[in-house]
Amino acid sequence: LQPYQRNKTNIIMPNTDSILRIALQKSGRLSEDSFRLFKECGIKFESGTGKLKTSSSNFPAEFLFLRDDDIAGYVEDGVADIGIVGENVFIESNRKAEITYRLGFSKCRLSIAVPRGVDYKNIEDFQGKSIATSYPRLLGNYLKEKGVKADIHEISGSVEIAPSIGLAEGVCDIVSSGSTLLSNGLKEVETIFRSEAVLISNKKLSKAKHDTLNKLLFRIKAVQTAQNYKYILLNAPNDKLQEIINMIPGMKSPTIVPLAMEGWSSIHSVLEENQFWENIEAIRSAGAEGILVIPIEKMIY
Ligand code: ATP
Ligand code: ZN
Repeated sequence: LQPYQRNKTNIIMPNTDSILRIALQKSGRLSEDSFRLFKECGIKFESGTGKLKTSSSNFPAEFLFLRDDDIAGYVEDGVADIGIVGENVFIESNRKAEITYRLGFSKCRLSIAVPRGVDYKNIEDFQGKSIATSYPRLLGNYLKEKGVKADIHEISGSVEIAPSIGLAEGVCDIVSSGSTLLSNGLKEVETIFRSEAVLISNKKLSKAKHDTLNKLLFRIKAVQTAQNYKYILLNAPNDKLQEIINMIPGMKSPTIVPLAMEGWSSIHSVLEENQFWENIEAIRSAGAEGILVIPIEKMIY
């Protein structure tokens, strides 16, 4: 089965069996990075037009724009084939779908916080107390694991005000910088879960859709690998080449191009960005000059 086929008027169209329905957050903290990911993968679609559904013009995919809370359910039911959602929301939803790929963006943590004036020692302080949260399942699992019996007070938003209005002794909520906690007079005391955006998929994808998903994953990996690497060019005197090459080994081995100036060469290599910064002083003191660091768009081993 081909992902594309010609229709009656001889125009190339995606084979409908292989079209992957992708659920994305319509607008929120996952949206921008999700949209950017597809763009970087060369998959074109219209977003921000207010439409709830759109098709890609150059990849067998359809996009549904939803509230993040609905994504896992749609993927479980097969209304969408895959989706991008925060792991916190996915686990909390208790929906049955596969975490196929961890995307590394929208990182945040789920933490317990108490009023700043409270003299907190450990989680056992919550024995017999109550905690307000929108994440009763994740919090419940954590308390159970710690053997603490506390009352979980489920509320759907503005969790931070619960202690000040006497609703609960503590809160359990998403934290990224901690400024919301601070402005509500709270301090973070326990981290119970670390989350990032995950790509989830329906457990029973057809072979045709699975093939499309694999094509998508291949592109995502190429884009993400590239983001950690840089293309490095530098000039070096020929008698220092080997020393410098040892510091920037590259994917297979560096390219050496002679310069017009006698006794000098240009070295081209691909390097993990961290490795570059760690070696930069040594590279320079070995005599390298005119060092250029260039971003790589896609990288395939
Ligand atoms: P929706 O309107 O779709 O229901 P929402 O208001 O429930 O959206 P957002 O605030 O957009 O949700 O957050 C979506 C997800 O992004 C969260 O479930 C979490 O995984 C992640 N997230 C939350 N807060 C942050 C943050 N401050 N920084 C980074 N990621 C975050
Ligand atoms: Zn939501």
